[in-house]
Parts: sequence; structure tokens; C-alpha cells
Amino acid sequence: MDEEWLATLPGVRRGEPLDRHSQYGIGGPADWYLKVRDTAHLAEVMRHCHETGVPLTVIGAGSNSLVLDGGIRGLVVELPRDRLRELSDDIVELAGGAMMPRAALDCAARGLGGLEFAIGVPGTCGASVRGNAGAFGTEVKDVLINCDALAPDGSQHTYAASDLGFAYRDSRFKHDLAGHVVVTARLRVHADLPLAVRALTDAIQTERRATQPYNERSLGSMFTNPPGDHAGRLIDAAGLKGARVGGAEVSLKHANFVINAGGATAADVLELCDLIQRTVAERFGVHLVPEIAVLGEPVRRKD
Ligand SMILES: Cc1cc2nc3c(=O)[nH]c(=O)nc-3n(C[C@H](O)[C@H](O)[C@H](O)COP(=O)(O)OP(=O)(O)OC[C@H]3O[C@@H](n4cnc5c(N)ncnc54)[C@H](O)[C@@H]3O)c2cc1C
Repeated sequence: MDEEWLATLPGVRRGEPLDRHSQYGIGGPADWYLKVRDTAHLAEVMRHCHETGVPLTVIGAGSNSLVLDGGIRGLVVELPRDRLRELSDDIVELAGGAMMPRAALDCAARGLGGLEFAIGVPGTCGASVRGNAGAFGTEVKDVLINCDALAPDGSQHTYAASDLGFAYRDSRFKHDLAGHVVVTARLRVHADLPLAVRALTDAIQTERRATQPYNERSLGSMFTNPPGDHAGRLIDAAGLKGARVGGAEVSLKHANFVINAGGATAADVLELCDLIQRTVAERFGVHLVPEIAVLGEPVRRKD
């Protein structure tokens, strides 16, 4: 792997602590970290990484990623947090790095309905397409028209929503399109009264705050809901609310949230998740599947 060229990139940071970039406040360093300017810049950087064998990882708002304690090898890139663009009366365009709650508020201000659910997804558009994020009965797949993504060699491709294999918290970006970076998404909206859109957006936010530990550091739901049930109900019924490993704790407010109660390491979180999975499997015969992305290495490799 030839990394020499990375040191010459304007704005690149070496050994960037990734706990700063995760809503969990957990994670070792990135070998290299770069906030790219725009899609053309990202394409150029991806092409160089591809040609020189440098692994590239994109990080959004870090609201769904457990970065392991050894950090991430190669280059970690962050996309610009551009704001929503209105393309027509019923289509808006979001950059891959755009924040979903900001998009929900921008739509409310313009009287555009359809993205109210996004207020409850504190992450970026690109990651939300990858994970088919959803809340309150609406998922990204319900509003996405198409998106542009860069392949690992930097080439750009457009995918219709119907080609993306969407399922519950799943898309092709987790499978055969892994390593692609979503840079733009076009979403369907509809004209509505600004006050009505804002009222629904606020109602969703109020409900979230009442039922989830919003003031704690978490990654949202730790496990996907098994068919016909809720992971939180099973974890609660297994008596695991408040269970703790090091600084990681099963939230008392919502059992499917594993919070960083202070000084948690990624190893603590993984050990607690393992305890949750084993206990729920023993008690109810259900295997809980993690919803989060796990990035990096458990232990830092010696250079
Ligand atoms: C309090 C709280 C509440 C939450 N509630 C919900 C909810 O109701 N519904 C829900 O679905 N989720 C929820 N989440 C989880 C999270 O907000 C979503 O999964 C969100 O889509 C993640 O976005 P992110 O930018 O933070 O992703 P990150 O954690 O930064 O990244 C997640 C994964 O996506 C990859 N990725 C990042 N950007 C891109 C890109 N542009 N293209 C391709 N891959 C990319 C990363 O490499 C990583 O593998 C919640 C999280 C928290 C902390």
C-alpha cells in the first residue's frame, strides 16, 4: 500500500481521533482523515486510493457506527454537509452528507411534506440510503426516486430506487455495492401547508424524545426488530435494562439502546451486545441481529 501521496493532500489529518466523529464518542484513530470539498474531489481521492491500494471508509454523522478501539486503517472521508435543493414542486435533492433532520426542517419551512420522518434520524442522507433508515412508518425507500453513487474507482453511477434491493434497514449498498459512496439522492415530496408539515415533524420529534434516551450518547437501535416482535421488548423481558459492561449500559428508557454512560470502549459495547444476544437467545430462542455498522480494527496494528 502506497500512502505517501496522502500526506500531500491539502487538509488531510494524520491520526485523527474518531471518537470526535462518532455520536457514541467512542473509537480509535483514523490513519488519515479528510473532509472532501465536493463530489469531483471525492472521485479524485477515491480513484487514487483505488490505484494505490489504500482502503477508504466514508463516515457520515457517526450515528450508526461503532468505531473499534484500534481505529480505521487507510483514509476516512467526510462529505460536505450541503443543504437541501428543491428541484421541482415534488422533488428535492440531498447531498450524501446532508443531515436528515435538517432536511426535514427545510422541507417544513418550504411547505413540502413527505420527509417528516427524517427528523428522527440523526444521520446523513448517504448513510440513510445505505441503511434504508426509517421512522414512524416511513423508510427512505418510500421517498427515494434515485441516487448517484461513486464506485471505489471513482466512477459515478445513478441507481433507481427500484434497483437498490431495499428491505428493512437494508440495501445493496451493504452487499454488492459495498464500498460505493452515495453522493446525491433525489426524494419525492408533496406540497402541503408549512404549518401542517411543521406540526407533524414536531409531533414525531416529541414522541421520540419521550420514548428514547435522546440526551445520552447512543447509536439509536442496537438490534433490528425480529419478525413480529421488538428487540427492545425482548431485551427488557430478559431483565437486561440497566445491564452494564464497563461504560456501556442498556438504557433504562429504551432497552434497544446501548448508551455510552461514560468512558465506554468499543470492546465494552461489543461485550454487552454479546451478553444481550446470548441472554435473549437462551430465554426466547431469538437471535438478535445488530443494526449498527462496525468499523475498523479491535486493536491497533503496529506500524
Ligand atoms: C438517538 C438516535 C436515534 C436514531 N433513530 C433512528 C431511527 O428512528 N431510524 C433509523 O433508521 N435510524 C436511526 N438511528 C440510526 C442512524 O441515525 C441512522 O442509521 C443514520 O442513517 C446513520 O447516518 P450516519 O450519517 O450517522 O451514518 P454513519 O454512522 O456515519 O455511517 C453508517 C454506515 O454508513 C456508511 N456511510 C456513511 N455515509 C455513506 C455514504 N454517503 N454512502 C454510503 N455509505 C455511507 C458508513 O461507512 C457506515 O458503514 C438513530 C441514531 C441515534 C443516535
